Amino acid sequence: MRCPFCGELESQVKDSRPSEDGASIRRRRLCPECGGRFTTFERVQLRELTILKRSGRRAPFDREKLVRSISIAARKRPVDPDRVERMVNAIVRQLESMGETELASHVVGEMVMKALKALDDVAYVRYASVYRDFRQTEDFASFLSQEGFGDESLGDEGASEDVPGREPAT
Ligand SMILES: [Zn+2]
Repeated sequence: MRCPFCGELESQVKDSRPSEDGASIRRRRLCPECGGRFTTFERVQLRELTILKRSGRRAPFDREKLVRSISIAARKRPVDPDRVERMVNAIVRQLESMGETELASHVVGEMVMKALKALDDVAYVRYASVYRDFRQTEDFASFLSQEGFGDESLGDEGASEDVPGREPAT
């Protein structure tokens, strides 16, 4: 496995253990070249999935991208990376078992939102703001009140500034 820090092609496996749900193997790796440490996961893929985006474009389902977008939403939150991994495993299993090879991006997005809601409120709201493409403070405020978050959870930032538009994560 190539080192993500220096590009060295070989890395040493220091530790290898199944994830809690047994659906993947987690390996801690060490780069002999730069000493960088990183983790890889090995897992079963049952079928290739294609995502149909709102724009009408199709793209292969990218599991790593999904993990990244969730990790960004959960940044600095007390969320164990193992739990994110388990959550994504469960979502992917669900997607694979739907029997479709092509899935609308909103199906995945709604599934992620539902799972994140159970995991962490802040991560959920952050993900929703990107996924639902909030452009204005009012979008954010109405979403929060719909979801039962009071004004007090808004804090200083977010109350007066627009949420920058970004590409939806899926
Ligand atoms: Zn390296």
